[in-house]
Amino acid sequence: MARGVPLTGEYLSRYLAAQKRWHEARERRSRETAAGRPSTYADFSRAHGLCSACAASGVSLNDNGVGFSTVEWNGNLPLYEECAACGGTGRIVSPS
Ligand SMILES: [Zn+2]
Repeated sequence: MARGVPLTGEYLSRYLAAQKRWHEARERRSRETAAGRPSTYADFSRAHGLCSACAASGVSLNDNGVGFSTVEWNGNLPLYEECAACGGTGRIVSPS
């Protein structure tokens, strides 16, 4: 079972940074699309070394892509599933 992590501290700051980046990505994508170049969020993530599986937040997105997967609750605090693809770092882990 995946490790449950609270969306606080480093995860929260990564999540907020990812949201900001999401907006930049959207603008970049419209520019790229207008220029006739294929541009997906995955392309953007790759170009920046970011994990596209979790939108660089370090916590797994829900299967439907909306919100995060909750694995358990710590009282009132939801614990989210740490992204297995990047180990919760939000960055592409290069196989070495
Ligand atoms: Zn990830």
